[in-house]
Amino acid sequence: MGVQSDFPVFQNMPFTDCCGCEACANVCPKQIIHFKEDGEGFRFPDINNEDCIHCNACIRSCPQLKEPSRTVESRECYAGYSQNPEIVEMSSSGGYFTHIVEWFKREYPQGKFAGVIWSEDFRLTEFVLLDSLDDLKNIRVAKYIQARKNGIYRLIKKELLSGIPILFSGCPCEVAALVSCIGKIPDNLFLVDFVCKGSTSEKVIREYLDIVAKNKKIKSLNLRVVGGPSWIPQWMKMTFSNGKIIFKSFYSTILGRAFHLLQRDACYKCKHCGENRWSDLTLGDFHGADPNQRYYNARGTSIMTINTSKGQKILDYLKDVCVVEKVSYEEISKQNPRIEHPWNKDPQRDVFGNTLSKKGLFSAYLAVVPKKTAIKTILKRILNQPI
Ligand SMILES: Cc1cc2nc3c(=O)[nH]c(=O)nc-3n(C[C@H](O)[C@H](O)[C@H](O)COP(=O)(O)OP(=O)(O)OC[C@H]3O[C@@H](n4cnc5c(N)ncnc54)[C@H](O)[C@@H]3O)c2cc1C
Ligand code: SF4
Ligand code: SF4
Ligand code: SF4
Repeated sequence: MGVQSDFPVFQNMPFTDCCGCEACANVCPKQIIHFKEDGEGFRFPDINNEDCIHCNACIRSCPQLKEPSRTVESRECYAGYSQNPEIVEMSSSGGYFTHIVEWFKREYPQGKFAGVIWSEDFRLTEFVLLDSLDDLKNIRVAKYIQARKNGIYRLIKKELLSGIPILFSGCPCEVAALVSCIGKIPDNLFLVDFVCKGSTSEKVIREYLDIVAKNKKIKSLNLRVVGGPSWIPQWMKMTFSNGKIIFKSFYSTILGRAFHLLQRDACYKCKHCGENRWSDLTLGDFHGADPNQRYYNARGTSIMTINTSKGQKILDYLKDVCVVEKVSYEEISKQNPRIEHPWNKDPQRDVFGNTLSKKGLFSAYLAVVPKKTAIKTILKRILNQPI
């Protein structure tokens, strides 16, 4: 079930095509576009129709109403990892992203970079614009909850107009939304996206924390910890202020199951994959990397495609601080098909989503796991064990 609205964009496409990029809210001259959750916890635009001046700026900005975005200029592919083992350990995969920001700040000391952080209570994620490398740690690592944009595209447009160079990183549809909001790409704007299967909803993280954290204060949360000899499978580490830690294989948690099953409808027909992307560089995880190759690091291996001449400039720097080995697009897209095609909707997705809407996250989880797992999970919850 979605949100019903008189919102102008939804007169032109079904609301289920909305990817939640928030371009519309960033361009609305009346600033009347707000976001409302549907039953699954995904946020959709909504307005008070009386305040709308029917300027259609929202319609013009919506990347979902445009033809697929720019076809990339080139398609050189690389695989590898940071030569600094600490950075690999702290990153989602091989840590290329950290060095891309380092390059940016070296070239443009006055520049600002945008990425996604957890909110203080870890119940949502949001975009921020930063200028100090000391704060880079906060945007490092994939957080699988769709981030609130908080007017970031508008802010970036303003900064660019006053001559501040910007590096923006986000999901491919968020990069498309930024480009749509600013109209054209100036020389001092650098765009990084990643291979994207889509994120899950805010309701998922809220309800998960209600189950496992209750009222305990969380100090840190990382969904991409290396928990064994290899970075796959990934582990979740939740640290509480009282020193208690939950350390569990991510996909064995209720949160991991939700991220696996529940994306927005728009993600299953994502139009921002393959060559239809605006980024200079695309990053991803090298699933299925060959352990016998020089690019392989058991603690995390990334892939990267260089999409433009700006991306090429960054590559030259990365070669000094990372292992960067040329690989073929065919090889990486075989191992990581999300780079080329959207994620297929899981047959259990709608059962999970409908149950989440009506009865909440715990019931949604019980509805999709085998009976034995459901009984074990109920017992663990009663005994206050991590689930
Ligand atoms: C929602 C989501 C889905 C993904 N799906 C895939 C996938 O299917 N296949 C694959 O290979 N890779 C996927 N990735 C990308 C991957 O997990 C790594 O982020 C990427 O490989 C870069 O790793 P890194 O080690 O270089 O850097 P890291 O330092 O780990 O990079 C983190 C980057 O991700 C950004 N980020 C974090 N959370 C969010 C968020 N909620 N929304 C937008 N941006 C965010 C940060 O701002 C930063 O730019 C996904 C990432 C996200 C956030
Ligand atoms: S038509 Fe104009 S005023 Fe109305 S919601 Fe869209 S952008 Fe805002
Ligand atoms: S601009 Fe983005 S958030 Fe707004 S309607 Fe289009 S897809 Fe949805
Ligand atoms: S899968 Fe596509 S539509 Fe969904 S968040 Fe990623 S880029 Fe956006």
